[in-house]
Amino acid sequence: MSSIFSKIIAREIPADIVYEDDDCLAFRDISPKAPVHVLVIPKREIVSLADLTVEDEAVMGRCVVAASQIAAAEGLGGGYRLIVNCGEDGGQEVPHLHFHLLGGRKMSWPPG
Ligand code: 5GP
Repeated sequence: MSSIFSKIIAREIPADIVYEDDDCLAFRDISPKAPVHVLVIPKREIVSLADLTVEDEAVMGRCVVAASQIAAAEGLGGGYRLIVNCGEDGGQEVPHLHFHLLGGRKMSWPPG
């Protein structure tokens, strides 16, 4: 299922892209929930965590390592949060798997 994120990957709509490699793309969230709010996505169209297969292991690993590198580049040495919302109960709105990298403020727990 194609989503708005496929259009960002294809450069059909603009985004503030902070990182790209062959497998992953990262760009700033249009409605940031923290001073740093970057979305890290696989370029492959994977709807959600629930759709992952073993073939996605390398790409998912690349996305997590990219998130770590982006966090360092964004100066989040004090810590940050990496979140994946999955499905309706998980609060996922865009049907293209994405990691939320949130930082620059103290996070509370548990999330709502
Ligand atoms: P979800 O609720 O699916 O986990 O998160 C989707 C995120 O995508 C939200 O934080 C939302 O602000 C962001 N988002 C939705 N549409 C766009 C867009 O067109 N551009 C960007 N940069 N972010 C978007």
